[in-house]
Amino acid sequence: MSTVLVLNSGSSSLKYRLLDDAETVLAAGLVERIGTEGGSLRHRGPAGEVTVTAPLPDHTAALALMMATCAEHGPELAPDVVGHRVVHGGARFSAPIVVDAEVEAAIEALSTLAPLHNPPGLLGIRAARAAFPDVPQVAVFDTAFHATMPPEASTYAVDAELAARYGVRRYGFHGTSHEYVSRVAADHLGRPDAKLVVLHLGNGASACAVDAGRSIATSMGLTPLEGLVMGTRGGDLDPGALLHLLRQGLDVDGLDTLLNRRSGLAGLTGTGDLRDVLAAAAAGDAQAELALDVYAHRVRGYVGAYLAHLGGLDGLVFTAGVGENSPEVRARVVAGLGHLGLAVDPARNGAADRGVRVVSPDGAGVPVLVVPTDEELQIARHALATVGG
Ligand code: ADP
Repeated sequence: MSTVLVLNSGSSSLKYRLLDDAETVLAAGLVERIGTEGGSLRHRGPAGEVTVTAPLPDHTAALALMMATCAEHGPELAPDVVGHRVVHGGARFSAPIVVDAEVEAAIEALSTLAPLHNPPGLLGIRAARAAFPDVPQVAVFDTAFHATMPPEASTYAVDAELAARYGVRRYGFHGTSHEYVSRVAADHLGRPDAKLVVLHLGNGASACAVDAGRSIATSMGLTPLEGLVMGTRGGDLDPGALLHLLRQGLDVDGLDTLLNRRSGLAGLTGTGDLRDVLAAAAAGDAQAELALDVYAHRVRGYVGAYLAHLGGLDGLVFTAGVGENSPEVRARVVAGLGHLGLAVDPARNGAADRGVRVVSPDGAGVPVLVVPTDEELQIARHALATVGG
């Protein structure tokens, strides 16, 4: 029996899960507010749930707190492999890989493409290597699932020499989620060859066209800023708007803040939490209503585009925080798509079920599914497979 520890490091948080090769979860938890005096850890293990607080100067301290909590409350923490979520694998990493010094340097070099996202992954890798020096560390990349995109889907129509020199192309993100969710949906439909559009709608959001298990198009690009409307990112934007704002005196940091923090639902309404936007719209707030319309309009555009790229559609799949939990957003997205065979059944869509489910009416042209994503489980599978477990 092998056990795998999955680490998903954010800039100030660390999600972990320990599971065995039968996919039984032995422990799971979340460390928050890393980098502050007021760090906290919520740990679920054999003895139930415990919450611990401690100053957490860095990711090494976060991992040490997790190990101390396991030592005190169980389970024994002796992983055979550690799987890490790494956001950007660039053009080089199209599959999970065991991290050695050279791979680590390559991940670090890719931080220029993902300055907000790759550094926390590296911190997790370094902390885990220090804690478990003899255990293989496997990097699993958010970009890797999209390596199958054909060149016409991954190429931006800009100066080819410049694009090659600076790595400017579409990579796509949320690949671990799209991979997991599309596989579960295809299994549920009994169609390994299914043509699917997966909508990962969380704080970050992306659409993916999956043909027989392979990504052929996705809405995020060089960075996780392109595509759908998100919590604090606006997705597609005329690049001319950036030139215009630069010429009006906004500097690069100002643009960065605008694009990463003051756009999307937050830019339009002041809050990036979709629950708040729905509540405001229900109370008659016209700006919140507009934000929801912009959000659904963008998603519908991608569904239509991907139906064209796929040459047909066997399922539309919703996942992540919004996609799994908001019947209203699902209904708004498919509203007006009846001519494509897409609709939700109000009772099924509104039911408080949690698992994999079909929410379209019987006899609908194209099934609409809700599939809870599980990136940690997918990372665990990749980590075990990579070391031959
Ligand atoms: P992340 O991208 O950070 O992993 P999640 O996938 O957890 O985020 O999604 C977070 C988003 O899900 C938030 O915008 C939150 O408002 C939304 N969300 C969670 N539950 C609901 C719900 N019941 N209805 C609508 N939106 C929800």
